[in-house]
Amino acid sequence: MNYNLLLKTDEWKEKRNEILSRDNKTCQRCGFLQNDKTLTPSLTIEKKTFENSKLTFQKDQKILPNIVRFESLGLVFYCKTYLTEDNLKSTENYSMIINLVKKKKIEYPFQGSLLKDTRTNFFLTETVNESLKKYAQRKANDSSLEMDLEGIWFTPFSERIEYAKLTKSLHVHHKCYRKNQDIWDQNNEEYVTLCNVCHKIIHESNQIPFYDSKGINYKFRKPCTRCKGTRYLPQYSYVDNGICYKCNGYGYLN
Ligand SMILES: [Zn+2]
Ligand SMILES: [Zn+2]
Ligand SMILES: [Zn+2]
Repeated sequence: MNYNLLLKTDEWKEKRNEILSRDNKTCQRCGFLQNDKTLTPSLTIEKKTFENSKLTFQKDQKILPNIVRFESLGLVFYCKTYLTEDNLKSTENYSMIINLVKKKKIEYPFQGSLLKDTRTNFFLTETVNESLKKYAQRKANDSSLEMDLEGIWFTPFSERIEYAKLTKSLHVHHKCYRKNQDIWDQNNEEYVTLCNVCHKIIHESNQIPFYDSKGINYKFRKPCTRCKGTRYLPQYSYVDNGICYKCNGYGYLN
């Protein structure tokens, strides 16, 4: 059966609701509650902030997108980006998005995979984005919030909505997949409730194992380049519940 259809089955809906209630309809990473209007979702910094700065790209093996570095306002910024040096068009508008979260809520590194390899990625090293943290704090205008260390993206202006926290959207994420087992038929410990933004972050920094019938991890799959593994596209939620058209809701391409 097409994954798109599996996500619409009563069995999945039932499992999904069971996990949502177990997790008190709260993102287990950032504490975001469904319909939570009190939490400022994200901070957008527009192009003028960095248009005269030189962008340099680098890669960290433990994190999926590229890392882009630039200096502006006397600060050094490091962001995740799906852009490369080659497709960076000087004419387009870009935004920097910072995910704001409740203070001291996130336990880094968050374990979003059944594999117990707590991998520390570039963004979790002590001195990275030190000055940006303070900048975000001032900009956020709310002392109960802080910058999500792994939630900083540099993205085309037109795609910024994909990084916004949706008040109606909580996702139930699989910490692993199992061959020949239905997506609703795994043990409850293998699922976790995440908001749409944390879900993206988890697929960027965790490898999700795919187990065969003997319980052996036989492959990792790269998240879909369109939905980044989250299966949903927020801007299309009015069509087909927003299921990603590129991977048909699989979250992976193959
Ligand atoms: Zn979250
Ligand atoms: Zn997931
Ligand atoms: Zn997709």
